[in-house]
Amino acid sequence: MKVLDLKCSLDHRFEGWFASTDEFESQLSRKLVACPICSTTDVSRMPSAPRLNLSSARSDDSAPVSTAAKGGDSAQQARALNFMREILAKTENVGERFAEEARRMHYDEAPARNIRGVATPEDAHALMEEGIDVMPLPVPASLKEPLQ
Ligand SMILES: [Zn+2]
Repeated sequence: MKVLDLKCSLDHRFEGWFASTDEFESQLSRKLVACPICSTTDVSRMPSAPRLNLSSARSDDSAPVSTAAKGGDSAQQARALNFMREILAKTENVGERFAEEARRMHYDEAPARNIRGVATPEDAHALMEEGIDVMPLPVPASLKEPLQ
């Protein structure tokens, strides 16, 4: 037997017992399913209780998942921060002279090394047009202070 949650056009809610969902559909189409309150045969099926329970169980399940995702995010942030520290440790800070130094290195006027510094978007764009690799490096504020 199937217990279906039904609703009539006047929003009366009631349960209907059927051999199967198909049987319900069949009785419905033959107007054999009537509202016990107002007797209308304009009846439709509501989302069944088990499905509602399932969806609330799903949202409960998603809580630990989202916590795990948060943990993953902070682990990822820590990795990004370490990566950033590594870059900062391995590069020479040339500050405002970044574009100038990058050009000098590119044209062999200065020893090749990894540098970092400040470049305006126009500078960075011009350097890239000259074939000089420039990578934007959003340094977290927490790392900026002790290094400059
Ligand atoms: Zn009714």
